[in-house]
Amino acid sequence: MHTPSWIELNRAALRFNCEQVRELAPQANILAMVKANGYGHGADWVVESIADLVGGFGVARFDEAYEIRRVVNNPQAKRHRLLLIANAASPALLQDCAEQGFDFAVSNFEAAQCVAQTSLPAPISTWLKLNIGMNRLGMSVTEFERAHHLLHKHPNCRDIIHMSHFSESEDRDHSATNRQAAQILNLSAQLGNFPRSLANSAAIISHPRTHREWVRPGIMLYGDDPTGLLSGDKQLKPVMSFKSQIIALKDVAEGDGVGYNRRWRAPGPRRIATVAAGYADGYPRSAPDGTPVLVHGKRAALAGRVSMDLLTIDVSDIPETKLGDEVTLWGEGLPAAEVGRHCQTISYELFTRITERVERRWL
Ligand SMILES: *Cc1c(COP(=O)(O)O)cnc(C)c1O
Repeated sequence: MHTPSWIELNRAALRFNCEQVRELAPQANILAMVKANGYGHGADWVVESIADLVGGFGVARFDEAYEIRRVVNNPQAKRHRLLLIANAASPALLQDCAEQGFDFAVSNFEAAQCVAQTSLPAPISTWLKLNIGMNRLGMSVTEFERAHHLLHKHPNCRDIIHMSHFSESEDRDHSATNRQAAQILNLSAQLGNFPRSLANSAAIISHPRTHREWVRPGIMLYGDDPTGLLSGDKQLKPVMSFKSQIIALKDVAEGDGVGYNRRWRAPGPRRIATVAAGYADGYPRSAPDGTPVLVHGKRAALAGRVSMDLLTIDVSDIPETKLGDEVTLWGEGLPAAEVGRHCQTISYELFTRITERVERRWL
């Protein structure tokens, strides 16, 4: 209606990025990660937009998967795998998963036992997760073998996929990832011929050996390349552009302060634009002075503390700036990762923190 801040969501960019995954890992099935509402892009929209390009979707929790099944009408998407990666196993949850046809990531031996001992309305697909270094989720080698033998051929288990998650696949130093990949691949080979799933975005881009049967791209679908290695016509495209509007312009004199506590002080006569977006929209309050904001395709610098509904930028070097102008906080022309670096965070966090009151505009 009259919301001064919005995100634009670009379907062509999303599909382009997904095609890049297909080119990088042509032999693998794609399980597109759409947890946290599709990294803040709208899970149902993401699912509808790339259903024909992938074999499944990954979410953190049951409710996320349920919402996708509820709203997505695409017949293709209805046949897709929907994997839950971060739910504790309980009989009630597993029964609901079986009923809905969701896949379940078995992250500890107790979960495997729960699958085996619960009376289920239908068998479920299990992704057995090996801990290869993060010590967050995943089983030890012994637990993994026991879980595998317990579930393999168990009537409650439709099929098994061997899975693990890298701790630092975006690193330039490949030694840890190579070691972690060898760990799961060797163990899996000992257990027989089962589909494997190792690679997140960074591994899809820089560790082809890890692609195997299922890759699990997340952030690269949304246009951020965590390795920085893709260039030229392979470069990923931002899907989300976070935009707002200039609602005030002020000329300040040398020494004048701007914003709460007047954190920023004008080094000389300056022109300050006030933008109608703040931390209540999901722009990080931690942003320091100098964080770039795009105005007329040029980088202006944040000047002063971000407040709840507003932020202020120095537009002295962009003289064509006028009241009502559109600004880009991140997105096309200004990578979210670049803004993230200023704010000591990553694009993932910026994307998932956009709040309810920001309007969604799907292109
Ligand atoms: C989020 C997630 C991914 C995707 O990671 P990206 O770095 O966004 O590609 C893959 N696998 C698991 C288990 C995840 O939780």
